[in-house]
Amino acid sequence: MPINENMVQTIVQEVMAKMQIAEAPTTGKHGVFNDMNEAIEAAKKAQKIVRAMSMDQREKIISIIRKKTHENAEIFARMGVSETGMGNVGDKILKHHLVADKTPGTEDITTTAWSGDRGLTLIEMGPFGVIGAITPTTNPSETILCNTIGMLAGGNTVVFNPHPAAIKTSLYAINMLNEASLEAGGPDNIAVSCAKPTMDTSAVMMKHKDIPLIAATGGPGVVTAVLSSGKRGIGAGAGNPPAVVDDTADIRKAAQDIVNGCTFDNNLPCIAEKEVVAVSSVVDELMHYMLTENDCYLASEEEQRKLTETVLQGGRLNRKCVGRDAKTLLSMIGVTAPANTRCIIFEGPKEHPLISEELMMPILGIVRAKDFDDAVEQAVWLEHGNRHSAHIHSKNIDNITKYAKAIDTAILVKNAPSYAALGFGGEGYCTFTIASRTGEGLTSASTFTKRRRCVMSDSLCIR
Ligand code: NAD
Repeated sequence: MPINENMVQTIVQEVMAKMQIAEAPTTGKHGVFNDMNEAIEAAKKAQKIVRAMSMDQREKIISIIRKKTHENAEIFARMGVSETGMGNVGDKILKHHLVADKTPGTEDITTTAWSGDRGLTLIEMGPFGVIGAITPTTNPSETILCNTIGMLAGGNTVVFNPHPAAIKTSLYAINMLNEASLEAGGPDNIAVSCAKPTMDTSAVMMKHKDIPLIAATGGPGVVTAVLSSGKRGIGAGAGNPPAVVDDTADIRKAAQDIVNGCTFDNNLPCIAEKEVVAVSSVVDELMHYMLTENDCYLASEEEQRKLTETVLQGGRLNRKCVGRDAKTLLSMIGVTAPANTRCIIFEGPKEHPLISEELMMPILGIVRAKDFDDAVEQAVWLEHGNRHSAHIHSKNIDNITKYAKAIDTAILVKNAPSYAALGFGGEGYCTFTIASRTGEGLTSASTFTKRRRCVMSDSLCIR
């Protein structure tokens, strides 16, 4: 294949990225161990100290984590993009600010009380101890920072087995978390990891007697592994979120919202719009606005075929395409697209592999439905029972309700880009661990606690 200008540009970008990793700040030593058992032991010692701390002291550590996350947001973003080759720096900076500002801390740890003739009973949220956490390539530092804030607020420490392809970024986050703790007068090793995580270190963690709870954020493989471990597991698995558009929607705004959500961090978030199902009467208008006002590129049938071959090599997702921008993806099939190209669109049936597979890149297939019921049916099929995320653009409350009941996902965003679900342009808190499979939904500090009933019989009711 002859080398064109785009291919040269891609190669230059890859070399630059590798150089940036080499220049990135060296990882500190806090929380990093050669052996998984040693890491768990250190986290156990730290948890004893955290357990004895006041809520106020925990919150002090968390406030320094928030400050340092803001200060390091650009470094994290550049490291993440350089190391994984996925996503874009601008959006990753925003994600880190979001983690710093909107991840709940100790305010999420609450008490329920019953007071009456027979005394006082409380339900307190107590820590599990040392939590095991497995984190993805797609949001590596975001997940580690967000998990640690929540787990620490609950009185736990955490041992991570990060994705090996994002290890440098992950260890940089773990070091920073411990520096924050030390700065606040807390212990070292509130968050730990092996220097070289593997499936073996993951297995050690999953079987370890001192790990009572494991939080897995990733694809179906890891969630199944954790749920088979014999331990309590929080399973934040894969999604394939469809965005439904009906004939009552503001079509121009729907086009803008969908493209904004789909292209955020090059479609890496598991909640991002992965395909559209629109009723037939609005498909042409929707695509018109995507093309004329939102910098989309319309892929021909031949280009769709080439993209399928490149993105799904032998039916398997080509990780070199995950989290790449639209222009780079087009350059991989020899197409020189305008510099401002944000998203590749086309119309196709729901069974089209670029539509039915979770791709995590800005390729957005649009499926035509004959009416709203057909749209719901096709969207439910496309979500594959993940019960993760779904989106709708509609002003008809009955339609929204029908879709919400049928698709039954942890997240359903109405008339906004998908990232509104994370508190970005929407109400509510932020998380990067959405427990779709096990049903906790958007995790927060309280998710990482045990409910404990404290009973005082016949006393302390002073009504
Ligand atoms: P991945 O499944 O390849 O890896 C995730 C983590 O699991 C990594 O640390 C990996 O080393 C580990 N892992 C994978 N298989 C394992 C096994 N059998 N045993 C033990 N550990 C195993 O996922 P990825 O490519 O890094 O991330 C993308 C996937 O994660 C997508 O499917 C996305 O939807 C999902 N995701 C879900 C959420 C959520 O909150 N629900 C958040 C982010 C990503």
